Order: sequence, then structure tokens, then C-alpha cells
Amino acid sequence: MLRSMNAVFSRLLQADRILVCGHIMPDGDCISSLLSLSIGLERIGKSVVPVVDWKIPTVFEGLPWVERIEGFSTSLPEFDLLVVLDSSSPDRIGRFEKLLSKISSVLIDHHATNTYFADTCWVDPSFSSTAHMVFRLLKLMEVPYDRDLALINYLGIATDTGFFRYSNVDSSVFETAAELVRLGADPCLVATRILENRRIEEFFLERDAIDNLKLLADGKFAYSFLDTKDFEKYALEEDDFAGFVGQLRSISSVEVALFASEYRKGEAHVSLRSKSYFDVSEVAVAFGGGGHPKASGFTLRYDGILKEALQDVVSFIDSRLANSIGS
Ligand code: 5GP
Ligand code: MN
Repeated sequence: MLRSMNAVFSRLLQADRILVCGHIMPDGDCISSLLSLSIGLERIGKSVVPVVDWKIPTVFEGLPWVERIEGFSTSLPEFDLLVVLDSSSPDRIGRFEKLLSKISSVLIDHHATNTYFADTCWVDPSFSSTAHMVFRLLKLMEVPYDRDLALINYLGIATDTGFFRYSNVDSSVFETAAELVRLGADPCLVATRILENRRIEEFFLERDAIDNLKLLADGKFAYSFLDTKDFEKYALEEDDFAGFVGQLRSISSVEVALFASEYRKGEAHVSLRSKSYFDVSEVAVAFGGGGHPKASGFTLRYDGILKEALQDVVSFIDSRLANSIGS
């Protein structure tokens, strides 16, 4: 794996104009790795544009450099290199996918389901987050850190580990987080911004999601969903309601949790989580998505209503759970 990090490092050193790209439905790790790498590369003299083909969720507004992230446009300048972050398959980068056949590309990611779709790939599922991989790379590049860079780099490590709670937490996570705190990252500021920044409407939406909650497989499987009219009722978007699947997993009997949000009629994002033995990435891959063994997702497309379209996935999980060893 060190070989791939070095290959990525030398590829970055050779390029001058670099397009750094995060994934659609950006989460904390996406924003963090995108901005940390972009700023780091600028600090060693590169010309960089950070991009994401999606609206940036309001929770990240006001964090350092977030306003610099650009969306998709055909008027972007010429680049010598495309760097893709935190993305397990090419469809994750939205319309920027087209660039993969046009300019040379580098991929940095920590998903076990990665399809190695760039010219130079550094993929290592042993890392807690892509932000953690970027930290290693910036250290190798001897990029100077200030408070803002430390904070934005810390963000992805904190969010992708569920604030240091998930099974991807090991001593290297704490060592890296400690180093970023020494460099000026404020853990309380990050936690407050992300976890204690909810609008009251999110609670109303949560009430609707609880109304739709079903428990199957002797309580081991919990699922729920919201459709577009639920979001419209409170003028919220799918991105504004990211944590509910974690709440479903927190039910004591639950091993697998599923939460589906319809962000456009006939299209829903499905989030999957498991607690100990069930590999949800296998389910996500079977339905065209990907992720980690305990946190995965995919897009469900259908005619008709979400509640009915979900039944295929629900019975798929229900029967797998009945046959799994841990049950
Ligand atoms: P979330 O449920 O929070 O959206 O995503 C959980 C994990 O699954 C993340 O690591 C994310 O990258 C991955 N994931 C979510 N949706 C998709 C998808 O549509 N395709 C792929 N390949 N991965 C996804
Ligand atoms: Mn990640």
C-alpha cells in the first residue's frame, strides 16, 4: 500500500493544474479530504480547483474554504490531472465521470468495494477515512499546517468514525486526531457544528420517519423511509436528514438498519448500516451501490411508490439475515 501512496505522490508532483473531485451527496469525509488535499497542494505551489457535482449540505457552510468548492460546469479551465476522492465507483462523481476518459486520473479511497477506475489508485480499506489518507499524503509532501487546515482535515476523521465510536477506530485514528488537535483543530467546534446544529423541522421529519418504522426478523432488522412530499412539507432536502439510519441501528435488538429517502420522484437514496456481523456492502453491491461492511448505500430507481419499491430490498435483507451465522 505504501507503493500506491508513493505512486500517487509522484503523480501529484508532476502535475501543475489539478482538478480535485469529491462525490455526490457529499459527507464530512468528502468535504474534508477534498479541501485538505486542495489546500495542501496549493501550499506546495499547484493550481487547484475543488469540485463536487452536488449541492453542498448547509451543515458544512462556514467551515474553512467550503465556499471555494465549485459545481459542474463546462467552462472549467484545462487541467493536467483529475484527483478523485472517497469514491468507490465512477458514478459517484456525477457528471465529472466524463473526464475520466479525457485526462489522466488519480484515486484516493478507503472503500473495500472500490472498482479501481482511475489510472493511479491508492485504495486502502484499513484507513478510517479518506481524510486520514490525505493527512498521510500531506505529511509526506511536508505541507505546513495551520489551524484551518488542521480543522478541515480533522472533520473527515471525526465524521467517518461516528466521532470515534465505529469499528474503524484504532490507535492510529486517535494518534492522527491528536496530532491535528496539536496543530490547532478544535474538536468541540467540529462536534458542535455537525451534531448540534439541527433545525426543528428535522425533528418533525424524524417523527414522520418513526411513523414509517418497521421491525422485522425478530427485531434484528429495522427500516424506514421518507418520500419527496415529506421533505417538501418542511422545506428540507434529503441531505439535511443524514443521521437517521444511525438512530435505527441504535435500537438494542437491531443488527441491520435501512433508511430510504426519495430525493426525486422515482429515485431514492438507500442507506444501510449493521452493528456487528452482517456485511451490508454485499447488499449495496447487489443493488448497484457500494460502501463499507457496516455502512453502505445505493440508489433505488422505480416506477410507483417508494414503500412498495423497497419491498425487494427488504425481503433480500430479511432472508439473508435469517441465514446468517450471527443470527
Ligand atoms: P450513506 O448511507 O451515509 O449515504 O453512505 C454510507 C457509505 O456507503 C458511504 O461510505 C458511501 O460512500 C457509501 N455509499 C452510499 N451510497 C452509495 C452509492 O450509491 N454507491 C456507492 N458505490 N457507495 C455508496
Ligand atoms: Mn469516507
